[in-house]
Amino acid sequence: MWSLFQARARPTCRVTPRTAEQVAGILSIAVAYSCMFAVLGGGTSPFSGVSNADGGITVDLELLRDIRLVENGDDGASTFVEVGGGATWADLYAFLDPLELSSAGTRNSLTGVVGSILGGGISFFSQNHGWSCDNVVSFEVVLANSSIVMASEDSNPHLYWALRGGGNNFGIVTSVVLETFRQPPSWYTFQRWDMRALESVFHRLTQMANNMPPEVQMVATALGWSLHLQEFAISERLVATNPPYLPQTLPVRNGDLKAGTGVLEEYIYVKTTLEMAQKMDRMNAEGFFNYFGSVTIKSQTEIDMKIANIFFEEVESIKNAPGIQIYIVYNPITVPAMKQMRKRGGNALGLNPEDGPLTIVNINLHWSEESDIPRMRAFMRRMISRITETARADGVVHPYVFLNHCFEEQLPLKSYGSENVARLDAVREAVDPHRVFHVLQPGHHKLR
Ligand SMILES: Cc1cc2nc3c(=O)[nH]c(=O)nc-3n(C[C@H](O)[C@H](O)[C@H](O)COP(=O)(O)OP(=O)(O)OC[C@H]3O[C@@H](n4cnc5c(N)ncnc54)[C@H](O)[C@@H]3O)c2cc1C
Repeated sequence: MWSLFQARARPTCRVTPRTAEQVAGILSIAVAYSCMFAVLGGGTSPFSGVSNADGGITVDLELLRDIRLVENGDDGASTFVEVGGGATWADLYAFLDPLELSSAGTRNSLTGVVGSILGGGISFFSQNHGWSCDNVVSFEVVLANSSIVMASEDSNPHLYWALRGGGNNFGIVTSVVLETFRQPPSWYTFQRWDMRALESVFHRLTQMANNMPPEVQMVATALGWSLHLQEFAISERLVATNPPYLPQTLPVRNGDLKAGTGVLEEYIYVKTTLEMAQKMDRMNAEGFFNYFGSVTIKSQTEIDMKIANIFFEEVESIKNAPGIQIYIVYNPITVPAMKQMRKRGGNALGLNPEDGPLTIVNINLHWSEESDIPRMRAFMRRMISRITETARADGVVHPYVFLNHCFEEQLPLKSYGSENVARLDAVREAVDPHRVFHVLQPGHHKLR
């Protein structure tokens, strides 16, 4: 398990089904005996009990990892891939990369394919393909009554819609069929700037959020505190998909930063999707206590700067903690990316292109001592509330809370809007009237 919060849970029993029928059998026993359970995918959620049931059954899907191509396009190129409910994006990228194919998966290799889809799924390739959930063609799901059903645009379409962002409230997903696209290796670039360039870097990010250069697929800017260097650092990761031509957006090449506020480091690689994800893995070592937090804002340099200033002030209270790593990632969600969310009847997230571009500000925190939990919790609460209130005062807050990266006290599903919440409730009522996935599987974000 990635986080110590999850690793220290002690399940009474761990089961490793090999088939959807075995998952259904396990679920029927859990229901018959009212046993608490949790479903374990990639195991990267940081909160206690989310996918490892303390005192209950952990249904570990690690043996449900088969991957196969299921359809060929007219040109002979395969376009869909079926993936087991316990596979990680590392499994899938390792399968697709040699075929020069990819799918819109997360930017970390350890994450479960289904776990991230249930919360949306920001990808390296969102600009052209939307989020992970937008690229699901169908789900195979075990429902609360242990029936095994398909959910797609044509079959159980409401359940299909709900599973694309609605969390673990509806069933256990035993496989998904995903759309793939042609993807030779991409440019993956990293720049770290002098902190004096902070405003220029945010300005550049705002410009890209509003008008992403055509070859750029993803840009994310990170502001962090380095325990090792005892200083703040601002850096950018960018993915562009047009080798052999170098991305025109690279600052050193274009010299588009003001004199005296230079780039300190710049690395430019050509990488497969798995290699890019593995590079990102290095930012997030496992074996620590972790908190995530997330706030969504309109993409704007002024609020980016104000958030940075909140960060500088708040970090003072925790920066001496053993094992501390703390950074914020500014993730722009462009209008073209949001338009992709309308594919296949739309997803459950409630994000409208008319509101874009937006920036999802993710706060990442890890540390090593259990005794520091109270001050880390207090830090995360203050960060979320100060950023939200500052953005609200400036009229640039957006209600959306990103499920995959939010704090356990945040309410992501409620943030999808009253219409979507009512629809999610109706789907839950239809597929799980006795609230098995709420009562017996208490971990993670629940419909109220
Ligand atoms: C280092 C790191 C980087 C990340 N990068 C990204 C990113 O780039 N984009 C992004 O969108 N997110 C990202 N995430 C967040 C990640 O997508 C979420 O934490 C996601 O919930 C993890 O899924 P998992 O299967 O790995 O975790 P788990 O803890 O195993 O599962 C998460 C939840 O999903 C449920 N679940 C998992 N599989 C199934 C299934 N088959 N059927 C039913 N329920 C299931 C679990 O019960 C649990 O409630 C990142 C997380 C980490 C730790």
